[in-house]
Amino acid sequence: MARRLLLDAMLGTLVTYLRMCGHDTLYVQEDGIETDDAIRERAAATDRTLITRDRELAARTADAVLLEAREIEAQLAALQDNGIEIDLPTEPDRCSVCNGRVERIDPDERPDHAPDAVAHVWQCRECEQFFWKGSHWERVRATITDLSG
Ligand SMILES: [Zn+2]
Repeated sequence: MARRLLLDAMLGTLVTYLRMCGHDTLYVQEDGIETDDAIRERAAATDRTLITRDRELAARTADAVLLEAREIEAQLAALQDNGIEIDLPTEPDRCSVCNGRVERIDPDERPDHAPDAVAHVWQCRECEQFFWKGSHWERVRATITDLSG
């Protein structure tokens, strides 16, 4: 089930993964939130689980998840251990760039830069970025599959 998450600074790669997994993920560095108090307030006001590498901030925030690891694989595994599902949906659901919802577009609206080999193209309703299940999707899938193996 998709979760509502707020990610602390320095976790940009993890933000991309979590959005691709369909989680509603805000990132403090995109939101312009800087102080610990502002981060705690945003998490509470938007009913989000805070994910941070800052031990002190995690201790002061209800329901926060503290990440000890720097490597993406270990971070994903730690989130899975905390009940946050790490799995790609059948179809892209959320924009990895802006957190908006994506929808599959008609074949005649395909952008020229989409590879011929991909069957379907999705577009973000918010930022209009195009997505398809290409090499990036497969790399993420391989990383995620390794976690459970
Ligand atoms: Zn977007």
